[in-house]
Amino acid sequence: MFLNIKYTPLLLLLVLFSCGSKEYFFENAICIENINTIDPLEGLKENQTIVLLDGKILKIEPTKNIVLSKENTIINGTNKYLIPGLWDTHVHFAYIEELAPIMSNLFLKYGITSVRDTGGKVAIVKKWKDHAIANPTIAPRIFMAGPLLDGIPNVYDGSDPGHPELSIGLNSTEAITKQIDFLETKNVDLLKAYEMLSPEQFIHIIKTANKKGLKVTGHIPLSMDVISASNAGLHSMEHIRNLELSCASNAKELLKERKAMLLAGTNIQGGTLRAAIHKAQQKKAIENYDEFKADSILAILKRNDTWQIPTLALNTFFSRRYFEKKEWQNSYFALPDSIAHYWQNRSEALTQMKASDFRKKYDHWHIKMIKKIYDAKIPIMAGTDTPIAYLTPGLSLHEELAALAETGIPNIEVLKTATTNPAKYFNLEKELGQIKEGMWADLLILDANPLENIENTKKINTVIKQGKIFK
Ligand SMILES: [Zn+2]
Repeated sequence: MFLNIKYTPLLLLLVLFSCGSKEYFFENAICIENINTIDPLEGLKENQTIVLLDGKILKIEPTKNIVLSKENTIINGTNKYLIPGLWDTHVHFAYIEELAPIMSNLFLKYGITSVRDTGGKVAIVKKWKDHAIANPTIAPRIFMAGPLLDGIPNVYDGSDPGHPELSIGLNSTEAITKQIDFLETKNVDLLKAYEMLSPEQFIHIIKTANKKGLKVTGHIPLSMDVISASNAGLHSMEHIRNLELSCASNAKELLKERKAMLLAGTNIQGGTLRAAIHKAQQKKAIENYDEFKADSILAILKRNDTWQIPTLALNTFFSRRYFEKKEWQNSYFALPDSIAHYWQNRSEALTQMKASDFRKKYDHWHIKMIKKIYDAKIPIMAGTDTPIAYLTPGLSLHEELAALAETGIPNIEVLKTATTNPAKYFNLEKELGQIKEGMWADLLILDANPLENIENTKKINTVIKQGKIFK
C-alpha cells in the first residue's frame, strides 16, 4: 500500500514517526533518492532523499528513514552529488545583442540558475529579466544593474564593437539623480558605478542609491583611491579594478598623475583614455607594490564589508589561457555561427601570442591578492564577465571556480562564492543558495564530488530549476 500525501509537512512527519515501513507517495513531486548532498554551509551528507514540490524543496530525509512508493517520479541519486544551483554574478546580456537570446539557455545548461547582470542598456537586459520571470523553469533568475553609470568621457559609449553602449555618461549630480530615479522605475536590483566618475559623482550615486535601498557595485573610479571609495559606502568591487593603484608605495603620486591625465583627456574617447591611464600606471603600481599597504586596505574593506567579485579567470586570461583548451573551443559550437567563427579565429590567434613578463607578473599578483582577500575574510562572489573575452556563458563560471580553487581557497568555500554568498548579497539567503526544506529547488545533480575536485562541477547529470528538470 502507499499513502497519498500532497504536502502537509505535519501529516508527513506524523506518518513517518508512527509507521516508518510504509511507502510514501508525493503527488506531482520529484523525488531524488539516495543522493549525497553538499550544502555549502552544512557540508556533505550521504544517502539522502529529497522531495521537490511546487518549485521548492519539500522534504529532506536520510534515505534509510523513508520508503518511496514506485508511483513517485524518482531520480536515482546513488553515487551522485547534489549541490545548489550556481550563480554567475558578473554577466552582460547586452554586450553582444545577437548572443542574448541564447544566453539564458546556456546558463541553465551549465547549471547556472541565477545571474547578476552588471551593466547594459536597461531595455535589453530587462527584456531577458522579464522573460525569466515569466518562464522560471527554463531561464535563470536575473538580477540587473541597468547601464554602467559613468562620468564624461564614458568608456562604453558605443563607439566601436569593443565598446558597445553599456554605459551612460553623466555630467552632473542632477543628471545622476534623474537617471537613478528612472532606473528605479525599471526595477533594477542594484546600481553599477564606473571608472570615469568624479569623486563627487561617485559619492552622489551611493547616497542616492542608499535612499532607495539599492546596493552599488563598481570599479574604483580612476579619480579616487580604494579606501575613499570603500569609506563612501561602495558595497562591492568588480575585478578588484584599480586596487593595485592604491596598494603601491607611490599611490598618492599615481593618483595625482591620474587626475592630471583625466583633466587633460576630456576630448579623448573614454575607453581610449582609460586604456592610456592603465598603461601608464599598472606597471608602476605593481613594481611598487607594498604588502603592508595592501594589508591595511584589506582591513578597511573588511571593516566596511566591501564585497569582491574578482573575475579571476578573466583577470588571468593570458596566464591561465582557457581559450586554448579544446573543451573551451568546443563550447563555441553552441553560439550563433558568426560569433563562433570569430571567437574560434581569435582564440587561435591568441594561442600564438605569449604573455609578456609584466602580464605574467600582474596575473600572479591577482592570484595572490584574491587569496589574501579570502584570508582577510572579505566575502567573495564568483563572476565571469561573460560574454567578454570569449567567455562562453555558463561554462565560464566553472572556469572561475577552478581559478578561485587554484589560489588555495578550499573547494567548499569556492562553492559558497557561487551559492550562499550571492544569495546573501541579495538578501535571499532564506530562499536560495542552500539545500534546505522550504528553499527554492534550484539544484544540480553531479556525477562526481566537487569537494574532491572543483572541476567536477562540470560533470552535470541533471539541472533542476525551480523544481523542474531542465532539458
Ligand atoms: Zn563587466
